[in-house]
Amino acid sequence: MSKEGMQSHSLHAFCSWCLQHTEHSLAVPARLGRDHYKCHFCQRRTVPCRLCDHMAKGPDTQASPLFRRYARQLCAEHDGSINAFERPERLPDITKCERLFRRHRPHYLRLAKYTAYVGSGSLAAAGLMLGHDGGAPAVAALLGSTGLLGLTDAGIAISSLSGEALRDASLAAIGGSQAAGKAVIASASGVIGGAYGGNLAYKYHHDDPSFCIRQLSEVPSGKSACLFLNGFLREQDSGFSDWQEQHAHTNRGAALYGVTWSSKSLRSLGFAFGKGVSGHGLQAVLNRAVLLGRRGLLRRLGPMATLTSCYLLAGNPWHVAMVNARTAGRKLADAIAHSPQPSFTLAGHSLGCRVIYFALLELANRRVCKVDDVIFLGGAVGRANAAGWERAAGSVRGTIHNCFSRQDHVLKYLYTSSNLFLSKPIGYSPIIPPIDRIKNHDLTHLVDSHMTWKSHYAAISRIIEAGSSQTDAGARHNEAT
Ligand SMILES: [Zn+2]
Ligand SMILES: [Zn+2]
Repeated sequence: MSKEGMQSHSLHAFCSWCLQHTEHSLAVPARLGRDHYKCHFCQRRTVPCRLCDHMAKGPDTQASPLFRRYARQLCAEHDGSINAFERPERLPDITKCERLFRRHRPHYLRLAKYTAYVGSGSLAAAGLMLGHDGGAPAVAALLGSTGLLGLTDAGIAISSLSGEALRDASLAAIGGSQAAGKAVIASASGVIGGAYGGNLAYKYHHDDPSFCIRQLSEVPSGKSACLFLNGFLREQDSGFSDWQEQHAHTNRGAALYGVTWSSKSLRSLGFAFGKGVSGHGLQAVLNRAVLLGRRGLLRRLGPMATLTSCYLLAGNPWHVAMVNARTAGRKLADAIAHSPQPSFTLAGHSLGCRVIYFALLELANRRVCKVDDVIFLGGAVGRANAAGWERAAGSVRGTIHNCFSRQDHVLKYLYTSSNLFLSKPIGYSPIIPPIDRIKNHDLTHLVDSHMTWKSHYAAISRIIEAGSSQTDAGARHNEAT
């Protein structure tokens, strides 16, 4: 089964980066382990999959130094990123995208192999835990190895790492550092039960049955398409009526579509926002804030703490949605790449922006350039990853408009607390690196809470069209705050 020791100068196989069936030429012959190849289409490093003849992602030269040398064990088909390499070339319409995700038959061998992988991952983590005096790094590593934390920013499954890299990647994904270590235990211990339960299966067969794209308005074909993505769902609405009403007041002519994703966790979030949460959750938030020595924070939080502590409740819908956003992003990229529509505008709110961000990264991998403009409203994505934003902007033909408000305290607290106060969201502060295709718009004067972003969509569209954007000097000023 193993490809170790096998040498051939070039081979034809599917590539897990660009998903093309291409030639891969031998780049670095291995003395031990798998040979490294280079894909002729995307020019990135590949290695043979442990389970089949296709190519897994090899070391990512664009990743941060810590992860640069790691190759994936499994190809995109076997790690569950896509359902199959061989899929329809082109969909009749983007709303038919479920054809891309449908499994034709259960893959029993694959399931068995998964179980083996998950099992060995857990054992490694247990070893780490014992070896590291049960401290935060071990907990972080455990979470990482169970797959609960998904991928690193470099796109490597955290569960495929080991040792130092596993620990550091897990801490980075939780948003922790060695200093914040003990606090990680407090926040993570509640999650571990879930990680060993349903979440394991959920990660390894991570299928979001709710993912679909539906058409909201009839427009002559051939026109560009505008896709809306929500960040949480209210009980009463279908999810897109607010976008549609607002869109009617803009000058944008496009066929409208709504992208549904992770609807179960988004409904729980909407419920939590609507009702507030129990005193138990609040207490946990306060304890953690004290642990972190951020006493000043408690004063500033006020009533927001009750809304945002749903992050700590059982089920943890915010965290589940944060993780699901990667999967949804990949599916969205898939749908866009295979759709007949030539151009897209993507508009997202809150966690919906996170889905768009991952979709842009995936489109960049595949060298698909069909997205014209992107509008982020109160986005729940970290703002400081320069390499990531550079790559995301590279897959856009027009501009990424990032709209932020200093009054969006819910986002700020939910996001920063779930990242242990070490990362700030783009919906509260501008995207840091000055990149040509990204424009930051400060809408603090217009938007006074996380829940009101969408009701200002028409006005925001006009502001964007008028070209009133923040200057670089302004962005630098904000960076310092
Ligand atoms: Zn490739
Ligand atoms: Zn494979």
